[in-house]
Amino acid sequence: MSDPNPPPPPPGDYPPQQPGGYPPPPPGGPPPPPQGYPPPQQGYPPPAAYGQPVYAPQGAYGAGPCPNCGQVFGTERTCQNCGQVGGLPTGIRTSSAGKRFGEIFLELLLFIVTLAIGWLIWAFIVSKNGQGPAKSVLGMRVVKLPTSRHATRGEMFVRWLVKRIMGAIPIVGLLSALWILWDKNRQALWDKVVDTVVVDDKEKRLLQQ
Ligand SMILES: [Zn+2]
Repeated sequence: MSDPNPPPPPPGDYPPQQPGGYPPPPPGGPPPPPQGYPPPQQGYPPPAAYGQPVYAPQGAYGAGPCPNCGQVFGTERTCQNCGQVGGLPTGIRTSSAGKRFGEIFLELLLFIVTLAIGWLIWAFIVSKNGQGPAKSVLGMRVVKLPTSRHATRGEMFVRWLVKRIMGAIPIVGLLSALWILWDKNRQALWDKVVDTVVVDDKEKRLLQQ
């Protein structure tokens, strides 16, 4: 068994250093060993936001204050204080119930005075922008919630069809329209079926998305 603590060599017993310090490495030899290894990683870093739902893509709905009014946004798709629609440009808010009912009556009026055929042509043209004739007059627009875009012509047609079918059923039609009065996102029942809201967009901001 060797002594773990050997006595230090006597002074003056070191081998003489070569003049010029360390000898140069032989040509073509291996590179000098690295000066120690890097510290080992403490496991893998956790992936960013792993396990957390990726939500709130554009707007601040669901969490934080409303970008339009600064109040608590709430958990609905529209601000419960001002009607700002989550995920849409600041200032795009749901139309008031009064305006919605005015629009329904204006639509009927336009349908009659254009003898239906004018209304149909008009509707075909403006439906591309998420509107019907009355909505185009009043600067309103239908927004499809899953896409956060104005409704396409096809989506407008489906919405119109659902609205006609529901409207043809007594009581259900009236109840569907009155739903706007108490719904948190000011949706009529046909809006709920096709997942849409109606917003004011006089400045056509949603056409520039
Ligand atoms: Zn708000």
